Amino acid sequence: MNPTLALRKRAAKVLQGLRAAYPDAGCELVFSNPLELAVAAILSAQCTDKRVNLVTPALFRKYRTAADWAKTPQDVLESEIRSTGFFRNKAKNIRALCAELEKNHGGRIPDDLDVLITLPGIGRKTANLLIATAYGKPGIIVDTHFRRLSQRLGLTKNDDPDKIEFDLKALLPEKDWSDFSHCMVFHGRRCCFARKPNCPGCPVKDLCPSAGKT
Ligand code: SF4
Repeated sequence: MNPTLALRKRAAKVLQGLRAAYPDAGCELVFSNPLELAVAAILSAQCTDKRVNLVTPALFRKYRTAADWAKTPQDVLESEIRSTGFFRNKAKNIRALCAELEKNHGGRIPDDLDVLITLPGIGRKTANLLIATAYGKPGIIVDTHFRRLSQRLGLTKNDDPDKIEFDLKALLPEKDWSDFSHCMVFHGRRCCFARKPNCPGCPVKDLCPSAGKT
C-alpha cells in the first residue's frame, strides 16, 4: 500500500479510537466569545487550563471589550494574571493584541487564519485554536501534547510544530481536523503522558508503533 494512503488510514483509525474513548473531547478553557478565548489562550502558555480557568472569570467580568483590555495599565494587568506565570509578557501580549484589534479590526478577533497569525501574541497554535473552537472552522492545533502524540503514533517525522500541522492536515479530511486536535490533547492529558504513558490502557495501542517502547 502507498505509504501516504496507509498513514491516512491509520490517522482515521486513531481518530475513530480516540473519539470512542473521549466522546466529550473539546477545548478545556472556559470562554464565551472569541476575544475571551484569545486571552485565555495567551494565559495558558506554560500554565494549566485549570489554573487559567480560576483566573479568567474575574477578568472577563471586568474586561468586556478589546478597548477595556488595551487601556488597562500594564502593572494592573500584571498583578491580575500573576498566578499564570510569565505575567509580564502575557500582559504585554494581551494589551498589544487588543490595541491592534481596536485599531485595525473593529475590536473583533478575525476569523481568518492568515490574518490571525499577523496579530501580536498569536502564533499558529492559538490561531488554529481560535479558528476551530471559536469559529467552528477546520483547524489543527499543535500544542505540546499533539506534537508528542503525533510523533509517537508515527503520523509525522517532524519536530517543528508548523510542519507537524501541515503533515496532519495532509492526512485527515478538513472536517476532522478540529475533532482530531481535541481528541489528541485529551489523550495526552489522560493517558499518553510525556513521562510513562499508559500504553496498556491506551485505546489506540494496536495502531501505535511506540506502544510499550516509551
Ligand atoms: S500506545 Fe502508548 S505511546 Fe502509543 S499512543 Fe497509546 S499511550 Fe501513547
